[in-house]
Amino acid sequence: MAVSKRLQTAEKARRFVGLFLVGAVLAWPMMQTARAQVLPSAPPRDQAGQFPLMTQARACELIGGKLQSVGVARCLRAGLRMSGSASVHGVPLLYRDFPASSRRGVPQRILLLGGIHGDELSSVSIVFNWMDHLERSRFLPFHWRVIPNANPDGLLQRKATRGNANGVDLNRNFPTLDWQREAMTYWEKRTHRDPRRYPGPAALSEPETRWLVEQIRQFRPDAIVSVHAPFGLLDFDGPREPPQRFGYLHLHQLGTYPGSLGNYAGVNLGLPVITLELPHAGIMPTPQQQARIWADMLTWLERNLPREAPLYFRLGQYPWEDVP
Ligand SMILES: [Zn+2]
Repeated sequence: MAVSKRLQTAEKARRFVGLFLVGAVLAWPMMQTARAQVLPSAPPRDQAGQFPLMTQARACELIGGKLQSVGVARCLRAGLRMSGSASVHGVPLLYRDFPASSRRGVPQRILLLGGIHGDELSSVSIVFNWMDHLERSRFLPFHWRVIPNANPDGLLQRKATRGNANGVDLNRNFPTLDWQREAMTYWEKRTHRDPRRYPGPAALSEPETRWLVEQIRQFRPDAIVSVHAPFGLLDFDGPREPPQRFGYLHLHQLGTYPGSLGNYAGVNLGLPVITLELPHAGIMPTPQQQARIWADMLTWLERNLPREAPLYFRLGQYPWEDVP
């Protein structure tokens, strides 16, 4: 009797170990998924193991040094402000406001973003060029907030990366209503776990995405323009008839993805979101092409912006409470 009991106990233990091993093998890829991979070329950490906040001058040295079309001196002259927030590697997230010149009524606001994908270098450079244009303009009908480099860590890797320093695609990390249900499944099934499109372990897991959402909530834009490359087209999400073309970029709607800015701000918040896809990540459009895109975009914005901000911006509330 005692022997058979011992045998039963040993059998149970074997089963338990077997199940544990099977579980571990099955869970391993998921643990890999959930673990943030810090990419190389990180700056030194401080004594507490943190990446210290870089100065603005140092950030410009790195950004301007990486982008010859911008250069260090021009980045320093651009009047960018520290926001108090930083990327994973401690690079300050910089912005500049260009208030409207008209004093009549409350001017409409446009948020202009470059470089949310770090390896789309032309998207950062063109935003610096448009900042020069805003600086020189005598009449500004809109209040602009410009964030030329939304993903500095991606840009500043030795070989620039689409994702941030944790390997997260920031444009899949926004808190869209479908994130919880769809983001991971989409990444696994539709992109076959493409590391360039990893949405992160949770919506808003990344400091850069949290800061961008904070910008949207504080600045309350009437429209958002986000510059990418290299598909050479114009995409649009949101409540208005889409523009047909800006310069040589023609409308071609790509649809939305769980966690994308177009889905979050365009579909969920109901703001017009213009996505400009330049044709090359490493080659700038000619000055004429840049000027043409800019002029067509201004004309469209002047004619098409909703006259009133969405109700939740006016009330300072959001249409849902449970989304962070
Ligand atoms: Zn992109």
